[in-house]
Amino acid sequence: CGIIGYSGPLEAGKLLLNGLAGLEYRGYDSAGIAYFDGESRIQVVKKVGKVAALRECAAKLGDVSHCGIGHTRWATHGGVTQENAHPHRFGRITLIHNGIIENYHQLTVEYGLEGKLVSQTDTEVAAGVLDALYSQCGGDPMAALKAFAARLKGSYGFCILFEDHPGEIYALRNVSPLVAAYTPSGALIASDLTALISYTREYFVVPEHHIVRLTPYKVRLYDMDGNKVAPEMMEVSWNM
Ligand code: GLU
Repeated sequence: CGIIGYSGPLEAGKLLLNGLAGLEYRGYDSAGIAYFDGESRIQVVKKVGKVAALRECAAKLGDVSHCGIGHTRWATHGGVTQENAHPHRFGRITLIHNGIIENYHQLTVEYGLEGKLVSQTDTEVAAGVLDALYSQCGGDPMAALKAFAARLKGSYGFCILFEDHPGEIYALRNVSPLVAAYTPSGALIASDLTALISYTREYFVVPEHHIVRLTPYKVRLYDMDGNKVAPEMMEVSWNM
């Protein structure tokens, strides 16, 4: 339902939780964040219920982080449980997803994922598929994402952390919206402009079938063949 991703100098945990609170108006049943901790390991915290409950849980960790992703879920596949909340982690992949993967059942069989999944979601299947493709592509995120997009049917906005690429967020969309911006406070991506507005008035709409890569100092847009593309910048002209 709601997506936010951040890489930059600010404390990522706080920024993600505030971002999710700003996306609450869209409605949701659970929320979660994942981030690289001080040792560059990925930590995941997720909860059924309000962002405030997630904030309490996350506070106990007290880690310093500068890169992470956050999600508010509106369940479509699998009940409202903590296991089904995003982010989903499979192997070296941790991701959040808006939308519906229509061929998740076929992919579960094809990639031998049955018995390896801890949730009932279409999203975790996608994480399993991407993990397999990432290994097949020799640990190349761009090649893996290209192969991933070719296998998926449905609507999606994904933000993805690769375990061995700390500080980086990759994103990909089909139908489900994503907007991104490079701001003086760092690199941001979200499902909704309201999550970016307090950091910048300049942004771009992520085009379908493109890959976005966020690092602490840059947001880069690529076509599916990995060629760099200049994003079409837009400016927010209304006041909030
Ligand atoms: N289909 C996914 C799920 O049910 C994503 C739902 C959403 O867009 O929040 O977990």
